[in-house]
Amino acid sequence: MEPKYKRVLLKISGEALAGEKKVGLDDDMLNQVALQVKSLTELGVQVAVVVGGGNFWRGRTSKSMDRATADYMGMLATVINSLALQSAFETVGVPTRVQTAIEMREVAEPYIRRRAMRHLEKNIVVIFGAGTGNPFFSTDTTAALRAAEIEADVILLAKKVDAVYDSDPEKNPRAKRFDRLTHKDLLEKELGVMDSTAASLCMDNHIPIHVFGLSSPDNVLKAVYGEKIGTIIE
Ligand code: UDP
Repeated sequence: MEPKYKRVLLKISGEALAGEKKVGLDDDMLNQVALQVKSLTELGVQVAVVVGGGNFWRGRTSKSMDRATADYMGMLATVINSLALQSAFETVGVPTRVQTAIEMREVAEPYIRRRAMRHLEKNIVVIFGAGTGNPFFSTDTTAALRAAEIEADVILLAKKVDAVYDSDPEKNPRAKRFDRLTHKDLLEKELGVMDSTAASLCMDNHIPIHVFGLSSPDNVLKAVYGEKIGTIIE
């Protein structure tokens, strides 16, 4: 069986990398993500990754800090995660480059679209760090933007929950689960899968989104083979 997609953008939330601890980095989770990405590259699937930063810092305003500063701190947190992922990927033998939207040449390449595409064509995994480089955006928006730029076939949205629900399944045992949705549903029903900026960017550029739980190690592979797990938004 052939994989359904040739080039994917995998979005991993920062929290997923923290495992049970909820903050910081969990070695087992890093290794698990690395093995999943390795299994994709072994199939010849080109993989780009956008990682969040919520395990270290999430942009928030306070008495002592404006939104932009908090957001820049959030973007820096995503770079920490990007470097951790790069190490984890290379430990399992997956060649990886990190490109950041805020230049920091000593630790990573700057984001250059054509260069990223070239890496992907050579089966090198590219991790996009520092979000879009702009405050007032999220890493979901980054995923949508980069997916459009690199012409990814799909955004694989690996979450803590296993699918999209109409309310939080951890709080509401009767939450309704969706197998399929349209981008319009996402915006109209205000389903908290991704923010509206990210959702409308995906809608306008016809980028499908596959949401599934990262907890089961085979899920990324299943998603790439087009198996019915989680929720497909298209
Ligand atoms: N962020 C930003 N611009 C971007 C991407 C991210 O300002 O283009 C900031 C924002 O403050 C966000 C934080 O980085 O809250 C971390 O990203 P996110 O909350 O998306 O991480 P996740 O929830 O996926 O771990």
